[in-house]
This record gives sequence, C-alpha cells and structure tokens, in this order.
Amino acid sequence: MSATRSEARSRELYRRAVAVLPGGVNSPVRAMRAIGRDPLFIERGEGAELVDVDGNRYVDYVCSWGPLIAGHAHPHVVEAVRAAAVRGTSYGAPTEGEVELAAEVARRIPSVEMVRMTSSGTEATMSAVRLARAATGRDAVLKFAGAYHGHVDGLLAEAGSGLATQALPASPGVTRAQAADTEIVPWNDREAVARAVADRPPAAILCEPYSANMGLVPPDEGFLSFLREQADASGALLIFDEVITGFRVARGGAQELEGVMPDLTVLGKVIGGGLPAAAYAGPRALMERIAPAGDVYQAGTLSGNPLAVAAGRTTLELLDDAAYLRLADTTRRLARGLEAAAGEAGVSVQVPWRPGLLTLFFSASPVRAYDGAKACDLDAYGRFCRAMLERGVYLPPSQFEAWFTSLAHEPEHLDATLDAAREALAAP
Ligand SMILES: *Cc1c(COP(=O)(O)O)cnc(C)c1O
Repeated sequence: MSATRSEARSRELYRRAVAVLPGGVNSPVRAMRAIGRDPLFIERGEGAELVDVDGNRYVDYVCSWGPLIAGHAHPHVVEAVRAAAVRGTSYGAPTEGEVELAAEVARRIPSVEMVRMTSSGTEATMSAVRLARAATGRDAVLKFAGAYHGHVDGLLAEAGSGLATQALPASPGVTRAQAADTEIVPWNDREAVARAVADRPPAAILCEPYSANMGLVPPDEGFLSFLREQADASGALLIFDEVITGFRVARGGAQELEGVMPDLTVLGKVIGGGLPAAAYAGPRALMERIAPAGDVYQAGTLSGNPLAVAAGRTTLELLDDAAYLRLADTTRRLARGLEAAAGEAGVSVQVPWRPGLLTLFFSASPVRAYDGAKACDLDAYGRFCRAMLERGVYLPPSQFEAWFTSLAHEPEHLDATLDAAREALAAP
C-alpha cells in the first residue's frame, strides 16, 4: 500500500456516473455498496491483474464474475475476436463457428447432445424453464434460497438478494403470479425438497449444482443424487444451472465431477470467454421441442454472435486437462493459505472451494445454506475487502459471491494476495 495511492479519477467518474446511470453502474454489485465504499473504474485488464483509472494495479479475483478463466486479454482470445470482427460483427444468419462450439459443448458435457445459444445467462435459464414447462405441462419451479439464476422475474425470489419471506417477490415489479409459480426451499434440505415436490409437483427442480451466489455452498454428500431421484419420481425435469460451474470446475462441469446428470444444463460466463454468450442444452428429444425444430418459441438477435463464439471457442481450446489441474492447484493453495492466515490472526473463517472458485466466510461453523451465509460476519468481510483493495487485491465486493481464480494467476499473485490477507486480517 503506497501512501500516494489515489482514487481521484475513479471518484470523479463515479460522480458523473451517478448522474447518468442508476447507482452509477450497469449491474448492482459493481457499486460496492455491500462493503461500504464507492466503485473503482477500470482502465484495463492484463492476465490476472486489473489496472484502475488512477493507475492502481490489483490482483483480480472477480475475473468479470466468472467468464475470464484464461485471464484478461488472453492473446489467443483477443486475436480470435479481432479476426472475427474484421469479417463482420453479426449477420443474423448461421455460421460455422456456432456448429463447432455446440459440438464441443456436447463433447464435453455428458448430458448434452444439443445446444441453443443466447446472449445472457438470464435468457438461458428463462428459456430452459419455459422448455421444462412445455415438456411437463406444469407451472411450478422449485428453486433454492440463495441461488441466483439471473434476473428472470419468477426466479428472483430469495435470489441471494436479501428478501427473506417465502413467495414474496424479491423485487418490486415481479407479479404475484410469477412469484407464486416459484417454490423456494433451503439448499441441502432433503425434507423440504421432498415436501415441496409432493405438495405441488414442479415442472423443474432448478439448482446451481455448486451453489455459488450466496458465496460457494457445495451440496452435501448425495444431495444432487437425491434431487435426481426426486425429479424422476415426480416427473419433473432436473435443471443444473452451470452458468458458473460449466467449464470452470471441470471439462464437463459439476455434473462430471459429481456424476449426476441433469435433464437440462444452463451455461454462461466461460462459454462466452468474456463476450456476451450463454446457452441451454440437453438431450435431442428435449431440445428439439425448441423452435424451429419444435413449438417452444425462443429467439435472439445476437444469439450465437460470431465474436462471442470466437472468444468462447478459443477459451475452451485453452481448457485442457492440464489447465484444470492447474486451476485446482491454484485454488487449493489460495484456500489453504487464507485458512492459515486467518488461523494466525485468530479469526474464524470457512473457505469452501472447488477448482476455480472459493468463498471466504467469516464464520465459526460451516455454511450449508442461505441462512448460514446470512449469519456470517458481513461487516468483517466488508472491512477485509476494503483493506485488500488498499493492498492491491480486488475481491468480490460482497460475501454472497464466489472468488474466481484463472489460468493467469501465478504463484506470485497468490503470495502477494496472502501477504495482503495476513495484514488485512490482523488489522483492527
Ligand atoms: C451469472 C449467473 C446467471 C445470469 O447470467 P447473466 O449472463 O448475468 O444473465 C445465471 N445463473 C447463475 C448461476 C449465474 O451465476
């Protein structure tokens, strides 16, 4: 931390931003309100590092909230996007790249035969739910408290966003009817799932197989197979929202690591390699219900955009077996190092991790569901996060988010991060 560290340009840009952008940002968490400070404006990213408009440099664990598994401005990705852009940025007609990307997704993800691309994860979950409703003729969707599936109206309830009362819309503007079709149960709670499924057989059980939007809260042993059984027994589809975990935790996502196959998989973030792309995917019999093969309508002007497809394909090419070993090793070292640093400082923390992501919970006991995540010491996280920023480490500015590691995080980045963490944890 240098005594001359300035945030003058960020402050000036933020002052202008709040006049023309609600809250000064285009997506809420960026505003850093949860940690009690104003946002930093970013000038550029290089590998695992961010540089803000005042020239301050940070080790980045946000990585654009997950897409940048290869790091910022990876030369292969930049070149692929450039090469695509000079041929035209969008045609509204099919391209070879989309076929290749879909084929690669099907090769990697065990439960997938066909893919439909969208521009955002929000659209992809919304469309997967529509398909599940069409396939089952049912309306209800079972989701988990603290799970986020994009800002789809009906899925905002208890979406890690703080509104705690069941079946109330989590945002003004969501209709009662939309909220009423969402049943919410606590993550890792088998009885609650069984009861909800029996009371009102749903079109789909929708989950993040590694819940990562209340901080990372992995499933208990056997919980995902239990969801598979419940879905089968009630005639519901099981949808895995792998927008975060897809291509991050393993070649084939969490479903490959856990050996539990969903009916539909939602993908996003890594699949676009830092450009806007997402997808929903599954077996042919289901996916051919989608128009124009079938009658379930869904469309998008920029879906399968050539630049995003180029960035996504190139990112996937970088993700071979060695890459996943490296990512797991980086994440394990960081998690263990944070635990050790907290131990030295006498601070109780939990650091659940999976390859490519982790969360630091200020809690004496393991977090198993949203209630547990909300009960953590959020002020301590806020103080820690601010202190880390001052020491050149850019963390998600909310405890209800995962930290992301990338292939660009080198041992020196981890060492610098852990040095900063030891200081930040020792600070009063
Ligand atoms: C980010 C996210 C989404 C939404 O994706 P967007 O591209 O932001 O619309 C959906 N599901 C999960 C699990 C996510 O983390």
